Amino acid sequence: MTQQRIYNFNAGPAALPLQVLQEIQTSFLNFDNSGMSITEVSHRSSYFDNVINDAVERAKRLLNLDDKFHVLFIQGGASLQFAMIPMNFLSNDDTADYVNTGTWSTKAINEAKILNKNHNVVASSEDRDFSYIPKDIQFSDNAKFVHLTSNNTIKGTQFHDFPDTKEVPIICDMSSDIFSRPLDMEKFGMIYAGAQKNLGPSGTCMVIIRQDMLDMANENLPSMLKYSTYSSKNSMYNTPPCFGIYTIDLVLKWIEEEMGGLEKVEAYNKQKAGLLYDYMNSGSFYRATAQKDSQSLMNVTFRLPSEDLEKLFVAKAMENGFGGLKGHRSVGGCRASIYNAATMESINALIKFMESFAKENK
Ligand SMILES: *Cc1c(COP(=O)(O)O)cnc(C)c1O
Repeated sequence: MTQQRIYNFNAGPAALPLQVLQEIQTSFLNFDNSGMSITEVSHRSSYFDNVINDAVERAKRLLNLDDKFHVLFIQGGASLQFAMIPMNFLSNDDTADYVNTGTWSTKAINEAKILNKNHNVVASSEDRDFSYIPKDIQFSDNAKFVHLTSNNTIKGTQFHDFPDTKEVPIICDMSSDIFSRPLDMEKFGMIYAGAQKNLGPSGTCMVIIRQDMLDMANENLPSMLKYSTYSSKNSMYNTPPCFGIYTIDLVLKWIEEEMGGLEKVEAYNKQKAGLLYDYMNSGSFYRATAQKDSQSLMNVTFRLPSEDLEKLFVAKAMENGFGGLKGHRSVGGCRASIYNAATMESINALIKFMESFAKENK
């Protein structure tokens, strides 16, 4: 007898839609009548071609992308992108603007530093422990790109609107909120996301890149570190992360066919996060850590009256079937990660648990 599934609030790897997991289970031994598992078919076969092409087409449909955008799958997580971006887009005289809104932005900036590339940190929210999204940012006019982190998984903040960077393309780390809302892709030269938050299993990073960015990219790099290698080979220069791409395809299909597209997903996400923030605002026991206008719809970070109570809360929650509520080890506190796959039922159950915990420990 297997243990019942828990209410999973993990930050990443994170909960996937149950239907997707069930579909994987059903077709795992015999994918598409191939007589093989998806983990056994050749990536050069029509079976896998169909999968990767379907994933690309679904991503483009969901974001209304025309053919100047390429959807790529690259290994090495979002973290490799932190290095590939300056390598590909900055030559000696170039510079880039970075906005520092937390741990992941800081890591992205650090890779530009390691590579000795010119870069400006044009805004930062470090002065108040990254609890807000900077406004009225002054960008340089000669930057090749502006780098942003749309959702700060650890600090619980999110860009609700993207700044006007004029002609300068935005490159955005959307690891923890890609496909959580519609996007005006005209602003972006490239977006990327490690899959394990909102897309599928870890091991794959989705990169959506505009043709003019590819055109200006540095070609004098090792094959595996150049975007053009991936765009010219449909992400199959070498063996791609097949299982990851397959799962991403199923998640995108779920978004299109079950959720009904990104407008609906966004409305659902607003409703879910709204319930949680409203509940916390209604009393003083739980305190959201992010500034109100910057609060993330994906990662709800909060504190209890004491660290001892936080410890007890996480432990009691686990006993009651709620996992993943401990804050990131670097910041402490608590965090409920409520990506696309988190259900309203799980949010309601969590709030009920929070109510009874607060009552017992006042
Ligand atoms: C998780 C995360 C990363 C790191 O992703 P990896 O795939 O582990 O490299 C980067 N940026 C953001 C915003 C994240 O949430």
